[in-house]
Amino acid sequence: MSEPILELEDVHAGYGSIKALKGISLKVYPGEIVTIIGANGAGKSTTLMTICNIVKAEKGRIVYQGQLINKVLSAKLPTMGLCQVPEGRRIFPRLTVKENLRLGAFFRNDTNQIMKDIEYSYDLFPILGERRNQEGGTLSGGEQQMLAIARALMARPRLLLLDEPSLGLAPLIVQQIFDIIKKINKEGTTILLVEQNANLALQTAGRGYVVETGKITLEDDARALLSNPKIREAYLGE
Ligand code: ATP
Repeated sequence: MSEPILELEDVHAGYGSIKALKGISLKVYPGEIVTIIGANGAGKSTTLMTICNIVKAEKGRIVYQGQLINKVLSAKLPTMGLCQVPEGRRIFPRLTVKENLRLGAFFRNDTNQIMKDIEYSYDLFPILGERRNQEGGTLSGGEQQMLAIARALMARPRLLLLDEPSLGLAPLIVQQIFDIIKKINKEGTTILLVEQNANLALQTAGRGYVVETGKITLEDDARALLSNPKIREAYLGE
């Protein structure tokens, strides 16, 4: 098998005296969609934020493309092809859709290609094309989620970290967004997906990790997790 694009080894992190991660180990291989599922407060978001060095790893190793990145500044990671779409979207509300997209390519200077990539965002999310001159803050929740994903893609990531893309959205919009996540993956971007909607996440991903109070308690093929009675009872509402 190829080398992992991302590997976490015994990662510990937290917020002051709160130990949110107590030894997380996981691997993501190139081309995969891997999901982390778990209950509220289990440590899913903290795992993504620690990978991006927004929360500091107190112990353990985070290796991306063979390089230890524990100490790499978060702002530098997109330039290395590692991008996060944080929970709650965090688009720039006073900038237009197009300006938000342009900012996703902040470190690039290939202007012609950037313009082509913006057009590609509009192919991927036609609604963003229609709203290109509208301020981000005036978009619906689903449109803001699409903009947040499209903006991350402007960095041409090799690995995209998605935090709860379904949060607060209507089922139809969620389905659209997950269809696009699969398309992005088919076109070559590896994806690490954090989701509370375990059913949807496991239908989308190839493999999954279950996190409980800061520890990985189970890892398996997504299909096996979907049919695992314990998972069905704990996370799929059965
Ligand atoms: P959710 O889906 O509810 O966001 P999660 O699995 O993503 O859950 P985290 O947000 O990673 O969970 O939270 C892990 C633990 O860290 C929880 O106990 C949470 O209360 C705590 N925590 C998260 N953010 C902070 C913070 N900024 N300050 C203090 N504690 C925090």
